Amino acid sequence: MVAKLFKEVEEEATDLLSDLIRINTTNPPGNETEAAKYLAKNMENEGFKCELFQSAPGRGSVITRLKGSGQKPNLLLLSHLDVVAANPKEWSVDPFAGIVKDGFVWGRGALDMKSMTAIEVMVMKLLKRNNLKLKGDVILAATADEEKGGEAGAGWLVRNHPEKVRTDYVINEGGGLAMPINGKNLFTIQTAEKGILWFKVKAKGSPGHGSVPGAADNAIMRMNRVVERLGNHRAKMMLVPAVKQFLGEVAKENKLLQQGVSLLLANPEAGDQILDMLAQTEKAMAEEVRAMLRMTITPTVIHGGVKENIIPSECEAVFDCRILPRQNPTEAMKEIKDLIRDIGLEKLEFETIQANEPSESSAETPLYEKIVSVLKEFEPGCATTPILLTGGTDSRFFRRIGSICYGFQPQRADMPYGEMLKTIHGIDERISVENLVFGTSVLYSIMEQFMT
Ligand SMILES: [Zn+2]
Repeated sequence: MVAKLFKEVEEEATDLLSDLIRINTTNPPGNETEAAKYLAKNMENEGFKCELFQSAPGRGSVITRLKGSGQKPNLLLLSHLDVVAANPKEWSVDPFAGIVKDGFVWGRGALDMKSMTAIEVMVMKLLKRNNLKLKGDVILAATADEEKGGEAGAGWLVRNHPEKVRTDYVINEGGGLAMPINGKNLFTIQTAEKGILWFKVKAKGSPGHGSVPGAADNAIMRMNRVVERLGNHRAKMMLVPAVKQFLGEVAKENKLLQQGVSLLLANPEAGDQILDMLAQTEKAMAEEVRAMLRMTITPTVIHGGVKENIIPSECEAVFDCRILPRQNPTEAMKEIKDLIRDIGLEKLEFETIQANEPSESSAETPLYEKIVSVLKEFEPGCATTPILLTGGTDSRFFRRIGSICYGFQPQRADMPYGEMLKTIHGIDERISVENLVFGTSVLYSIMEQFMT
């Protein structure tokens, strides 16, 4: 028998999401306190005790807890309240009006990630309404600042109030979206994410007149070599467990990819050749996989020079480097310096802007198994796979204190996969009402079976 969806939550979940979208929490500045207060009031109306924490004025996070009987495990339902900016001129609806049309809730945060906040709140309410006898505590935390790195939200909570948020398991954003492959849904569960190393390089030279280039030492020319070298660098490929399993699952479902993937798994050193081949027909997929297999270094900002006829003595560039689980920022920086040693390290200055460790959780846990089995109750033919996120989420703060974290907002693919991804941080972000119901139903069932 296929598990039944909780149609009865449709209106409530939709209203909750619309209301959250209407509270503009664009970060910067964030202004999450208003959303945190709204949630606190909404839940207190139903007898929850909520706590509001502010890392700074306006930067609010809200926490509430359903007490269990004191047994293990306990679990945190995590989400962030802030969103990235939206330019109303580019949208076909007002991004902060929370409009419902054509079966979708439209607005900034509809996917990333106020829908998950609404779903998690619904799950908490249902657990309470149905008076479930929980083993461990279930905590809900909706936090500030994820879109700017989380230091004023989840990071701040973990540092200042660890007793409020430390749990065995965390469910957060970063996975859950089904990839339709061969008419079958492949649900992703984020078990790992890359780390960040943002750094600045300043190239030094000596100034001179633009009409006599040979007499000066042009810092732009030096930086040009650095950018060329780092931007084109193909670091050693590494297959972390999440990526290995992901590729295996994709290959099972798609004949076109099957050959390439089995070649890749058998021979990771030839990875780029294989991916170049794959890129001829499946460009987006091939490049996504390439980024899952190695450290990447992307030049993102460059500044140099002051006037038409002055040879510049300084040029600065910023690089966005992403490292794999089991790599670390210090070693990555060493590797980067080695790559450009011959360009003259004495004329290059390095500054780390931000460094976040990569993080991963095992996919061999009772919760992971439960997620898989509940998904199959709702969709018997579906496939599941762990994934590595090439970006980052707040999960890293919790993995650092020993929690097992999964990115899992269950969603069926009811828009073309690529199109849906493009709306996140893009235009016309929206989620179907059906996916609000599906997400609530699946997540509640996991809680019901795993926490009682
Ligand atoms: Zn997000």
